[in-house]
Amino acid sequence: MSEQNFDLVVLGAGSGGYAAALRASELGMSVALIEKDKVGGTCLHVGCIPTKTLLHSAEVADFARESAKFGVKADYQGIDIAAVTSYREGIVASKYKGLQGLIKARGITTIEGEGRLASPTTVRVGDDTIIGKNVILATGSYSRSLPGLEIGGRVITSEQALQLDFVPKKVVVLGGGVIGVEFSSVWKSWGADVQIVEALPHLVPNEDESVSKQFERAFRKRGINFSLGVRFQSVTQDDNGVVVTLEDGQTFDGELLLVAVGRGPLTANIGYEEAGVTMDRGFVITNERLHTSVPGVYAVGDIVPGLQLAHRGFMQGIFVAEEIAGLNPVVVEDINIPKVTYSDPEVASVGLSEAKAVEKYGADAVTSYDYNLAGNGKSHILETSGSVKVVRLNDGPVLGVHMIGARVGELIGEAQLAVNWEAYPEDIAPFIHAHPTQNEALGEAFLALAGKPLHAV
Ligand SMILES: Cc1cc2nc3c(=O)[nH]c(=O)nc-3n(C[C@H](O)[C@H](O)[C@H](O)COP(=O)(O)OP(=O)(O)OC[C@H]3O[C@@H](n4cnc5c(N)ncnc54)[C@H](O)[C@@H]3O)c2cc1C
Repeated sequence: MSEQNFDLVVLGAGSGGYAAALRASELGMSVALIEKDKVGGTCLHVGCIPTKTLLHSAEVADFARESAKFGVKADYQGIDIAAVTSYREGIVASKYKGLQGLIKARGITTIEGEGRLASPTTVRVGDDTIIGKNVILATGSYSRSLPGLEIGGRVITSEQALQLDFVPKKVVVLGGGVIGVEFSSVWKSWGADVQIVEALPHLVPNEDESVSKQFERAFRKRGINFSLGVRFQSVTQDDNGVVVTLEDGQTFDGELLLVAVGRGPLTANIGYEEAGVTMDRGFVITNERLHTSVPGVYAVGDIVPGLQLAHRGFMQGIFVAEEIAGLNPVVVEDINIPKVTYSDPEVASVGLSEAKAVEKYGADAVTSYDYNLAGNGKSHILETSGSVKVVRLNDGPVLGVHMIGARVGELIGEAQLAVNWEAYPEDIAPFIHAHPTQNEALGEAFLALAGKPLHAV
């Protein structure tokens, strides 16, 4: 039994929690970082990083299969899942070690164990009491399911999907959002038959509709099947596989059902309500400066309603540390946070979609320009199709950028600068893009919106 005092106590060491701890220690605070599992959280251990290793393996498989087209003699002989696993585990282990070293080097006290908020200034871990002048809640999220849909056996979530020691031959994926399409993309590249079931009218439904439509065309061309606009009804499983039934009576069978219907906040039974923190359906409610209803208690990351992304967590963690230090940091709205879907094709966007821009400013006040990647030399070399769409306010700034195609995730940096800096196309059009790069596609779109298209009409 012990009692320790800190300037700041952070509960949960995922993207949001550890970023807050690192920035607070940089600002001279004494920090306790409480974690029941592994520092790095979902993103490092079962989210962003391991899924991207699988996607890279999938990309290499496609390259190997199509190598003859580029004049390279190679035989695609299949997937060695043990080797994929050791590649994936190697990357995660190395990033984990690096993060542990960084946390230690910054003088942060890591406390292992399950924490419970016992009062607005106190977290209990077993018999130990950790007291903070300020407390940040950062306990993250878990894979949700649907009412009556039980996870187990052949019905799995992304956590089990990552750990599979075989490549399924046939899979049903429930959910056409980011996690669902990323796994679908991997499995298809590895040779599986994939059927996606999405209740909304589009795949990647949070994107600009023109992007969703192109995405559907690309998936169809790859032979990835999907059903849109009909809801899941039930699933049965036996030793051979699963049978999924939709509300319209259609059935799909497979070896596995991946449930990818979103993530719920991990906030139950850890004392939040009892300490007086206002909650809504499990999420912690904060104001725009991430203060909860209890003075001195803040929340960051996936438990705060909005985009559930690692870089939002990082940004919020840094924000709260600076807020506590009195630095008055700038609020970044969710809409201006970049989003990337790392499937083949990739999707990347930031800011308002065309429909949202029209809704906000009116149809006459908004212009958008869709640059087809067919006109971009580097994209042609990579044999990718897709587009870069830029939405602007007339006589005003860039409001949104929406991209689809191979590697467009790497273009989002420039796009987010344009949107967050509220740049006018006329001001950024003169900036030069190296030739031949895919970045030129953004440059071409800015030129067109500034009234002087180069390689377009
Ligand atoms: C398959 C998948 C792929 C993803 N890919 C991407 C991607 O490519 N890009 C991206 O931006 N985002 C991605 N995400 C989302 C990203 O992982 C999350 O948005 C991010 O991890 C949220 O950070 P967080 O700090 O809020 O929570 P988490 O990372 O979930 O961390 C919370 C931590 O708190 C700990 N904890 C919980 N309760 C307690 C307690 N009572 N006591 C002590 N510790 C506790 C947990 O063990 C965990 O380590 C992906 C997610 C998944 C599942």
